[in-house]
Amino acid sequence: MTNDKRAFQAIVVGGGPAGLTAAVALAAGGVATVLVGKKPAPGDNRTTALLASSVTALETLGVWPLCHEQSAPLRFLRIVDDTGRLWRAPEVKFEADEIGLEAFGWNIENRVLVEALRERAHTLPNLEIVEDEVLGVATTADHAAVELRHGGMLAAPLVVGADGRKSLCREAALIDIDEHRTRQVALTVCFRHTRPHHETSTEFHTPSGQCTVVPLPGNRSSLVWVLDPAVAEETAALGDADLSAAIERAIHSILGKVEVEAGRGLFPLGVVTARSFARSRIALVGEAAHVIPPVGAQGLNLGLRDAATIAELAAAQREHHDIGGELLLARYEKMRRADVGSRTLAVDLLNRSLLTDLLPVQGARGLGLYMLDRIGPLRRAVMREGVAPRTAQPRLMRGEAL
Ligand SMILES: Cc1cc2nc3c(=O)[nH]c(=O)nc-3n(C[C@H](O)[C@H](O)[C@H](O)COP(=O)(O)OP(=O)(O)OC[C@H]3O[C@@H](n4cnc5c(N)ncnc54)[C@H](O)[C@@H]3O)c2cc1C
Repeated sequence: MTNDKRAFQAIVVGGGPAGLTAAVALAAGGVATVLVGKKPAPGDNRTTALLASSVTALETLGVWPLCHEQSAPLRFLRIVDDTGRLWRAPEVKFEADEIGLEAFGWNIENRVLVEALRERAHTLPNLEIVEDEVLGVATTADHAAVELRHGGMLAAPLVVGADGRKSLCREAALIDIDEHRTRQVALTVCFRHTRPHHETSTEFHTPSGQCTVVPLPGNRSSLVWVLDPAVAEETAALGDADLSAAIERAIHSILGKVEVEAGRGLFPLGVVTARSFARSRIALVGEAAHVIPPVGAQGLNLGLRDAATIAELAAAQREHHDIGGELLLARYEKMRRADVGSRTLAVDLLNRSLLTDLLPVQGARGLGLYMLDRIGPLRRAVMREGVAPRTAQPRLMRGEAL
């Protein structure tokens, strides 16, 4: 095994969207960075609704110009109570221009976003990409060492663990998790339709979870359909014509005739939160740090704020301090905890309120939506907080370069 003696300041483990964003942001901030990760497998047919502040960050990093034409703006959000229960909520519609925004966000296929991030990564002189897998991470008082599957070691003062929900970096840092499964599976598929979506994302609240259609460019949309696990398996196994018809029924034909595209994804849902986001020279970002159900498009948006935050802290200290030291890691933990905690709680409560059979909880949910529909200032406050939290806005999300 050979040792790589090049002087990296940060090693990012994982080439998913959170890891690539962290690597690009670190390098753009002047931190000599190496990313270890393979190109994600082509099977991920998910899309991400990137909130306006995430788009600002990607613009600042020079990534957004490479992919924005393949995204669709979300100007309207609609919530439809399709539970058929006694306490039904009114339909609520949110408009981005009510809070002075062109759009709440832009929906983009994950594969397109990852491709744009990789393209940008290859143009940065102080970022190297190693297409490999990390087998182990060991840390000492002054550096971290990463072992690669194809031989060799890399060393740096800071490791950014962006290696997803089964994070090896998290284990190496001896960080425990809090976890609960929700007995739900999200079926994902993209489809064409005959009626325009009018840049509106519609969320049908059903007793098994949300069934959400999100616009893509043209007469295309993506679907995230949260189902009981057995039903999700059965539905995913349907032929194209039957699946198209099932989707059309589930979304009450609002988009006309549906024609599914190739590829179906099944994602078991749950909530996972790392008890610490950083320890022993390892900072966790993205799903290595937190997993939440796909409600309100928060998951990767949180991951991008993690990436922007660790890059901001490392870039600011890169010449004077140990960028993997305890002080910096403690600041990272402090800056991310409230944002992740509050969003995880909100998403989890909203999701559970759909699954419960308890009438008072169903009533409270209905009342909450009724108040959102009727009380303008409350609705606007919720919309503002949804797209850009008052706390935790790293510099990149404010359009400031590192
Ligand atoms: C159905 C669904 C819909 C969603 N919709 C939205 C949305 O609209 N908006 C939103 O913000 N979020 C959304 N999310 C959440 C979002 O998809 C995730 O947060 C995001 O994909 C996680 O990215 P990541 O980079 O953290 O992890 P991953 O995409 O899992 O990437 C981790 C990478 O690390 C690599 N890796 C793992 N171990 C190693 C190792 N040892 N060495 C090297 N590499 C390794 C893996 O191969 C992988 O490429 C959704 C999630 C689901 C399930």
